[in-house]
Amino acid sequence: MSILIKNVLHQNQYVDVLIEGNRFSQIAPHIEQTAEKIIDGSNKAIVPAFYNTHCHAAMSILRGYGDDKPLFNWLKEDIWPIEAKLTSADIYVASRLAILEMIKSGTIFFADMYFYGEETMRAVKELGIRAAISLVEMDMFESEQTQMKKAATAKFLEMENPCPERIIKGLSCHAVYTVSSDLFEFAAKTAQENDLFMQIHLSETAGENTDCLAKYGMSPTERLDSFDILNDKTILAHAVHLNSKDVEIIRRRGSYLSHNPVSNLKLNSGLFAFEDLYQEMPDKITIGTDGASSNNNLSMVESIKFASMSAKMQANSAVAGKAADVYRTATLNGARAFGLEAGEIREGALADCLLIDMENPFMVPNYNIISNLVYAADSSAICDVICDGKLVMENHKVEGEKEIIAEARKLAKKIINLK
Ligand SMILES: [Zn+2]
Repeated sequence: MSILIKNVLHQNQYVDVLIEGNRFSQIAPHIEQTAEKIIDGSNKAIVPAFYNTHCHAAMSILRGYGDDKPLFNWLKEDIWPIEAKLTSADIYVASRLAILEMIKSGTIFFADMYFYGEETMRAVKELGIRAAISLVEMDMFESEQTQMKKAATAKFLEMENPCPERIIKGLSCHAVYTVSSDLFEFAAKTAQENDLFMQIHLSETAGENTDCLAKYGMSPTERLDSFDILNDKTILAHAVHLNSKDVEIIRRRGSYLSHNPVSNLKLNSGLFAFEDLYQEMPDKITIGTDGASSNNNLSMVESIKFASMSAKMQANSAVAGKAADVYRTATLNGARAFGLEAGEIREGALADCLLIDMENPFMVPNYNIISNLVYAADSSAICDVICDGKLVMENHKVEGEKEIIAEARKLAKKIINLK
């Protein structure tokens, strides 16, 4: 497959962009070569797509199911009881809803931490985007659960990857307050032996830190480090409450942080120290949405605005959380965190990109496109989405979207009756 985008705005100039196979092969004014698909890029701009580094995709079906509670009450009273009743077929339907929403808002990669990963992989394969899929390790310190989780993980990792060109299989540990030492040790060993990416919720709330300190005499970061689990393939989600020693450990280990600004604000978890951490580790800060039950959407367009706004408030400075810095964390840094040669419009890079409708009122005037995307636009400005050299949304339409919505509505009715 080849795509030629004619006369499209790219970094303040009009160029043609040729995609051959799954890479950008040429970016230049007036490319003579033709292609199987020609897109008229006039009145459009080409920009990197979004890489969502922390998500629980299937939780989209629980959007609005339980709101306005602190993290632990929300998990215990609303989320965990209903999650225990979801079937693998439900996860497939819910994952499709999530991926539809992601494509519509310009996200072509998500790092997932959930159950029934095989069903989410099936949905990712069909809808054409990328993902890092992991089963969540969480045993609540019960040895029977530990054994079940170990067996499920081994089975998941043995299972053939249905789409290795776009799906990465990995591991995830829920958090220090839900995972036993035995399970952390298993996860660390399994990740090392198989060279896997690992996601972990870290220091999301102040209470998590206080409890960890009381129970183990160390911070959550120190506890993770004691299992030798932190390295440059670890992605630490939230990381709201880090002290200078924690930051030093994370920096030394080369781990990535996934900042989840909307979820942190909605659950009142706290303000991520974006500016200080970005200054210290500019390549290591990435953006995630978290699940749509604590956000309540998966829009990275919205998340980057929140990331910037909350950075300014946290640092008490209008200079903090600059649009260009935040945009980079949500694109290039997110791709790099998962080893993808993507996240930028560059010859040779993986052909993932968005075409922005420059006639959309949010994009007018256009003194600075990144400023418009971070501060002004919503996802209505995104008209086309290309992932791995293929159009996954063309002129705002995603193939099969009506059925995806209908199936999700049917599942939501079932969920209400399970309550
Ligand atoms: Zn999460």
